[in-house]
Amino acid sequence: PYDVLVVGGGPAGSAAAIYAARKGIRTGMACDRVGGQVLDTMAIENHVSTVYTEGPKLGAQYAEHMNAYEIDQIAGVQASRLVPGTDGELHTVEFEGGGRLQARQVIIATGARWRTLGVPGEADYRNKGVSFCPHCDGPLFKGKPIAVVGGGNSGVEAAIDLAGVTEHVTVVEFMDELKADDVLLRKLYSLPNTEVITSARTTQVNGDGQQMTGLEYEDRQSGEIRTLDVDGVFVQIGLLPNTEWLKDSSLELTPRGEIRIDERNATNIPGIFAAGDCTTVPFKQIVVAEGSGATAALSAFDEMIRTTAP
Ligand code: FAD
Repeated sequence: PYDVLVVGGGPAGSAAAIYAARKGIRTGMACDRVGGQVLDTMAIENHVSTVYTEGPKLGAQYAEHMNAYEIDQIAGVQASRLVPGTDGELHTVEFEGGGRLQARQVIIATGARWRTLGVPGEADYRNKGVSFCPHCDGPLFKGKPIAVVGGGNSGVEAAIDLAGVTEHVTVVEFMDELKADDVLLRKLYSLPNTEVITSARTTQVNGDGQQMTGLEYEDRQSGEIRTLDVDGVFVQIGLLPNTEWLKDSSLELTPRGEIRIDERNATNIPGIFAAGDCTTVPFKQIVVAEGSGATAALSAFDEMIRTTAP
């Protein structure tokens, strides 16, 4: 068995595995893809100390950094169940296909995925106008008109943020009214370069083959199809944590499926920690995930030296 088993090999899982291995303890890392969401990212301009990099390059650097330590790396596997050990017993992680791994401490870092609209053009123009991350890609649309789909808190926060960078922001909401908090709505309505369209069902992302050129929606009152001439769209209809595999364990999840953690990245189960986008951490960013992976590993080590018989 491992002293520490990390499930997930994105920014959080890679950082956790490196920090654990540097303590000289037996460390395993099992994941589907090393790099995680970073692999789907073109330009990264906010990985502190690096002015510009690209996702696949950063993903390869995580692998290279883990290779420099004694970490058992198992990629291409899907965790399907967590069986927590009680009273100091080993914890077990089961994988699709029948494999299982055991460890004294487990760090869960299975990340998240953006909810997509599922309309024609969305996948074709991803990173060519279609974006999911305002903190990441906002500056790419400096001085240009854009749309935000989704009028909940994340959509309206995104619109307020993007109004400061882009030329004009149109918020497109399916329901008859925006669902964001009042304080955010007041801020949004106070901005001169924003507009809100409700009762609008997004139907298509238009493009010229290279770049997105517009967003089509159906006015749900009249049934009419309309087009917004925008250079970008930020889809803000939810981030889904990859925690479905934990649902029948006793690990505490929020109603949105995020793993509830404290400031030491501990979960409700002793010996099980979590880090990154799959948790209740309020900001879902690479440097935040890296930091939380490091915290989880240091906490796991700290707990281990306190609970192990001399
Ligand atoms: P993830 O990166 O999601 O990694 C999860 C890991 O768990 C992966 O290894 C995955 O294969 C594995 N996994 C998942 N489920 C299972 C399972 N059941 N069994 C085994 N393994 C599993 N952030 C920035 O800071 N700057 C940016 O410019 C930026 N741009 C982005 C652009 C896009 C298109 C996207 C999607 C995100 C972007 N982000 C950006 C956000 C950033 O990528 C995430 O916050 C970060 O990757 C989260 O790291 P993580 O390790 O928590 O999770």
